[in-house]
Amino acid sequence: MTNTRAARHAGPALTVVGLGAAGASLAWRLVDAGVPFEVVEAPRAADVRSPDRTWSTWGATGPGPFGHLVSASWPRVRLVAPDGAVVTADLGSWRYRSLHSHDLDRAVRAKLAAAGVPVHERVLTGPAPVPAVDTRPVPVPTDGRTLLWQHFLGHRVRARRPVFDPATATLMDFRTPQPAGGVAFGYVLPTSTTEALVEYTEFSADLLTDAGYRDRLGEFLQRSGTGPHEVLGEERGVIPMTDARFPASGEPGVLRWGANAGSIRPSTGYSFTTLQRQADALAAQVVAHGPQGLALPPPHRRRHLLMDSLVLQALTSGRVDGAVFFVDLFRRNPVHRVLGFLDGTTTPAQDVALMATSPRAAMLSTVLSRVGFRGSLSLDPPHGDPGGA
Ligand SMILES: Cc1cc2nc3c(=O)[nH]c(=O)nc-3n(C[C@H](O)[C@H](O)[C@H](O)COP(=O)(O)OP(=O)(O)OC[C@H]3O[C@@H](n4cnc5c(N)ncnc54)[C@H](O)[C@@H]3O)c2cc1C
Repeated sequence: MTNTRAARHAGPALTVVGLGAAGASLAWRLVDAGVPFEVVEAPRAADVRSPDRTWSTWGATGPGPFGHLVSASWPRVRLVAPDGAVVTADLGSWRYRSLHSHDLDRAVRAKLAAAGVPVHERVLTGPAPVPAVDTRPVPVPTDGRTLLWQHFLGHRVRARRPVFDPATATLMDFRTPQPAGGVAFGYVLPTSTTEALVEYTEFSADLLTDAGYRDRLGEFLQRSGTGPHEVLGEERGVIPMTDARFPASGEPGVLRWGANAGSIRPSTGYSFTTLQRQADALAAQVVAHGPQGLALPPPHRRRHLLMDSLVLQALTSGRVDGAVFFVDLFRRNPVHRVLGFLDGTTTPAQDVALMATSPRAAMLSTVLSRVGFRGSLSLDPPHGDPGGA
């Protein structure tokens, strides 16, 4: 958009609150569109400032306009079953990619500075100025059927011996003790034969102690054969996996958006690709109608949310064994179908094909436990009006 078009929407400029994955993705597009706006981001030392993190995505290109910031990519992915059996998938023209938040932060700040967009370094307390897109975190709603946490500790390690395959990302290595009502695995993103980000991850109801994460990660590093190594850096996270709905901001003129508004896919804990789709749609709305009255682009399709909700319920109830479930998902389906589903891009026919490969008895009894007296499957939280987006 040119500055002339921006002038058409003269009025209070938009405020983007937060310059994490969501805020930076929108800010990038608004600069490209020539739209006037400002940013409020917590200073680096503030308690509320999101720590640095590695974002991974997959597909033919991208993520979004940030392909040039990708620091590592892999043409193959693999899963390792508890017994050590390996399922490897060649991604063809796709890549599994990761980019680091400090690279996005640096790039978006340079772009904002060049465009003269003000970035106010402060902790915003209270309501956002109107109009705004507010990406600050909110408490995770607890009124869903299921709430698991995806929680992990990762170490960027340098091994003494060449032990990693830099062409293969290990998405899930189940050679870890499994928690009841959840699943645990190692996640390995190698950047050379000796260096990798290695994480111990759980999808479960309860977090571990600091020592607990260190023990499990240490065990996994040993079992997966990393051997003696030095630790170059650390990354940790706690991400909600829930079928609860996040409420809207409730403030006229303030659109709540990001991890705080359901952009995280319940079955994966990923959101970066979804945020790119939503950022495209939000920027287009601002260009077309100005910054007032923005509507949240739905993060996920309803049928995908329903499938996720069933999977989470089957996992927590113990009806499915998480390790077997995920390994079989990749073993029995073309990899683009699985990764497409996890990204929300599969067609209904592909979803049916995917469901046909899931453990039938366990999924059927989960479905039956959800069929209401009207004979319909409900996605809504068990109590009350979910409200919001
Ligand atoms: C460690 C970790 C790794 C992840 N890895 C992946 C991945 O590989 N792939 C994927 O798709 N998803 C991943 N996710 C999930 C999701 O993509 C991220 O959580 C993502 O950062 C969410 O984007 P966001 O903009 O909503 O939140 P954030 O990126 O956390 O951004 C929120 C911003 O608001 C700012 N802020 C907070 N409070 C205030 C305040 N009061 N005033 C001003 N500013 C404030 C913060 O400093 C921050 O910049 C990961 C999450 C975590 C925690």
